[in-house]
Amino acid sequence: MIPNPATGGGPALEAWVYSFPMRNRFRGIDVRDGVLLRGPAGWGEFSPFWDYDVAESRRWWAAAVEAATEGWPAPLRDSVPVNVTVPAVDAERAHAIVAASGCRTAKVKIAEPGQTEADDLARVEAVRDALGPSGALRVDANAAWDVDTAVARIRALDAAVGLEYVEQPCATLPELAALRRRIDVRIAVDEGVRRSADPLTVDLREAGDVVVLKVQPLGGVRAALRVAEAHGLPCVVSSALESSVGIAAGVALAAALPELPFACGLATVALFTDDVSSTPLLPVDGALPVVRPEPDRIEAVAADPEVAQRWAARMAAVSAA
Ligand SMILES: [Mg+2]
Repeated sequence: MIPNPATGGGPALEAWVYSFPMRNRFRGIDVRDGVLLRGPAGWGEFSPFWDYDVAESRRWWAAAVEAATEGWPAPLRDSVPVNVTVPAVDAERAHAIVAASGCRTAKVKIAEPGQTEADDLARVEAVRDALGPSGALRVDANAAWDVDTAVARIRALDAAVGLEYVEQPCATLPELAALRRRIDVRIAVDEGVRRSADPLTVDLREAGDVVVLKVQPLGGVRAALRVAEAHGLPCVVSSALESSVGIAAGVALAAALPELPFACGLATVALFTDDVSSTPLLPVDGALPVVRPEPDRIEAVAADPEVAQRWAARMAAVSAA
């Protein structure tokens, strides 16, 4: 446990720092760490990646404080369909991850730095093989391509395996809009929403067909519901690679959305070698239950004091007015 972080006049919160390795390198990281906050409404998670500065991390802090002090709106459903998330691993490993997941939808990371078009194609073909013809397959390029490259790669992938949608193939919204006029595959906007100065007012009309909602980057479950309402597009809820405590907030968001047409990217606890809870939020038959797991393993996965110190400094920075 580390010193109580400030909540701007709200209740004092207990804070614990966790750390555990990833099974495979993902979004450039091999170890996941973050803070769990305990307040009167339960546990919240504050875990901005280390490349996020103080200003951008404030929304993540607001999400953790919401979970710990207010809780979330009432759910409209008691379970949430989820996709298996496939890192930029080789084809054999990708097949095994999907086959073991029990999920009917897969999201595959592509366009990883240092990898080739052939690597992507082999990975998605292995995933299609594991899913079978009726499974839904989506890809996430994390803003890697220019418009011409995106047109060529998406057409090739769609012809090979059939795509449900492609997530953030290009970096900017004008690029996404130009791309969208040239392909038939739906575009989901992720970074274009969550890293924008104002996710509520950013204009997505020409750029995307689906909005990716993430609780921490958008500032909490209520803030993400407002983003969903503002855009009026189909939404999919994804994780920011949280422990089961943070995933529970994503599940709460997915459970509170009026409509949920796509499986959500919330099965990512499977990417970790450990978790904060002995009852981790892992999918059964392709769905997660709407529950808040107790982080009863927080002491077993406690970060070393040096890491805890760095998180204490981050919390002090984001919670300062
Ligand atoms: Mg994404």
